[in-house]
Amino acid sequence: MDELTIIGGGCAGLGLAAALSEAVEHLDGDALLLEGRPHYGYDRTWCYWDLEEHPYRRLERFHWRRWKVRYQGREVVQASERYRYALLPSGLYYRETLSRINALAKIHVERGCEVQGYAREGKGWRIDTNRGHRHSKVLVEARGTFAERGDRRGLLQHFVGQYLHLSEPILDPGVATLMDFDVDQSRGIHFIYMLPLTHDSAYVADTYFGHAAMEREVYRSNIRAWLRERYGVTRCDTDGEEFGAIPMSCGYSRRRLGRGGFAVGGAGGAIKASSGYAFCAIQRQIGNWLNDIRRNQCWCVPPPPRARGLEWLDRIFLSYMYQHPGRMPAVFTRLFETCEPDALVRFLSDRPTAADVAQVIRAAPPLGMTLAALRGLPCWVG
Ligand SMILES: Cc1cc2nc3c(=O)[nH]c(=O)nc-3n(C[C@H](O)[C@H](O)[C@H](O)COP(=O)(O)OP(=O)(O)OC[C@H]3O[C@@H](n4cnc5c(N)ncnc54)[C@H](O)[C@@H]3O)c2cc1C
Repeated sequence: MDELTIIGGGCAGLGLAAALSEAVEHLDGDALLLEGRPHYGYDRTWCYWDLEEHPYRRLERFHWRRWKVRYQGREVVQASERYRYALLPSGLYYRETLSRINALAKIHVERGCEVQGYAREGKGWRIDTNRGHRHSKVLVEARGTFAERGDRRGLLQHFVGQYLHLSEPILDPGVATLMDFDVDQSRGIHFIYMLPLTHDSAYVADTYFGHAAMEREVYRSNIRAWLRERYGVTRCDTDGEEFGAIPMSCGYSRRRLGRGGFAVGGAGGAIKASSGYAFCAIQRQIGNWLNDIRRNQCWCVPPPPRARGLEWLDRIFLSYMYQHPGRMPAVFTRLFETCEPDALVRFLSDRPTAADVAQVIRAAPPLGMTLAALRGLPCWVG
């Protein structure tokens, strides 16, 4: 029987396995990471504000100190001396974590191994895979959004992001476009996200907060139309593409899977419901969990990825978004316009001070948010 089995080798599973190097003394036996993919590629781009330390900061490849939001022809440009918006390519993260794991004799990665189910059996877990059964004392569920997370609302952040090479050097690589709402709003909350990498290359994502993903061609043609309208670009080459459909639900629960079973990452509620950001929360959750394990000298429940109060505010915001999708472009724009940039960045990154929270609450529509909070109260208490 293995001591520990991690199911899913994505951001959280790999990060946890790599971090186990610092906690290897707590592993009595071997650890196994089961990953369904046979090979790792560059399947997603992680962006976040760089206000927290984590072990992979040196893998960040692009940074922006200025960002903007656009709505009804008006651009709100914000800047920070203190924090940068950072881009970290997943391919580099996979390579780095795998090389750290390979250096640890006690931890083994099995790729192409699809987990079909698991259940308590005897003093541990029985795990059924496409390659037979495994037994493990401790099990960690790290299959991202695969696990059921009690999504009551059913909103989804769905997008196609493309790496594009333009024929003309017309971009300002100093300013990231976080949300351009001057696009068709008839199919849900819709915006373009554009990170200029150089004067003639960019990562551009066509993003919706809506109920169901669409044919990829829809997003692609939206990106083309936006580039044409905003920059007059008629020709560009696609260097890469990614797709995401992230449930916008707050998933953290202290519920264990059963004795000796835990969930981390997306499966452990690390994805911020209102924004889809998770990378920093995942690194934070892993770091804090290993500290708890060291301190308690046993496998204990992973800590929440963010403070409960913040999760509660997120739920109110999400509830408002669900009820008033048409108002959201104005709400987001106002947040960026009226909050001090560093305060908003700390809030969005789950590290706000009390004064930051007060600023954000003041910028939000007071009556609508209060009603959203009251309406949602029965679901959130308990
Ligand atoms: C395209 C995209 C872009 C994103 N961009 C950002 C961003 O900019 N910033 C940010 O903070 N967050 C972003 N996110 C959200 C979040 O950071 C990621 O989803 C993150 O990868 C979640 O980590 P995870 O480990 O929980 O899940 P994942 O990284 O999805 O890992 C789950 C792993 O489980 C494996 N798996 C699934 N089923 C099985 C099975 N049956 N058996 C074995 N293995 C299995 C999968 O192959 C995968 O490797 C993005 C998400 C996507 C999809």
